[in-house]
Amino acid sequence: MIRPILRYGERPLHETAAEVTTFDDRLQQLIDDMIETMYAAPGVGLAATQVGVLQRVFVVDLSLGRTAADLIVMVNPSFVSREGTQLEEEGCLSAPGFNATVVRPGQAIVKGLDRHGSEQTIEGTDLLARAFQHEMDHLDGVVFIDRLRGIKREMIVRKIQKLKKSGKW
Ligand SMILES: [Zn+2]
Repeated sequence: MIRPILRYGERPLHETAAEVTTFDDRLQQLIDDMIETMYAAPGVGLAATQVGVLQRVFVVDLSLGRTAADLIVMVNPSFVSREGTQLEEEGCLSAPGFNATVVRPGQAIVKGLDRHGSEQTIEGTDLLARAFQHEMDHLDGVVFIDRLRGIKREMIVRKIQKLKKSGKW
């Protein structure tokens, strides 16, 4: 089932998610729904907080569903290491229409659990490292806009507030 994606300013999106403690049917349903929602959007990543569920789960698929092996489901993730920096344009399904350049690690190793609770460690470089950092941020209630500084951030926030007032957000 495709779930509605929360937008910047909607509260649960800005809250910190809690660790998953039970790998039950409900979690499996959430993960299936997140994958379906990500592909439908389409996007390369989605965190549970974006569908209003405050649990530490994210899905990433740089192939947008074209290569089954590229689908990553991470539960209770944490960084093992982060190295280097990259500076690329970034967007978010929770902030449609907005892009900005964000500093991210060039390489990131994330460990966590798969959808059945088995440990896994995945190394990402370039876009995958960026996606890992972006989704990990979501689990802490941070959207890429929050990582911007100064005028760029103010401009985006102001535009979003305007859209909200006119009922278009
Ligand atoms: Zn996002």
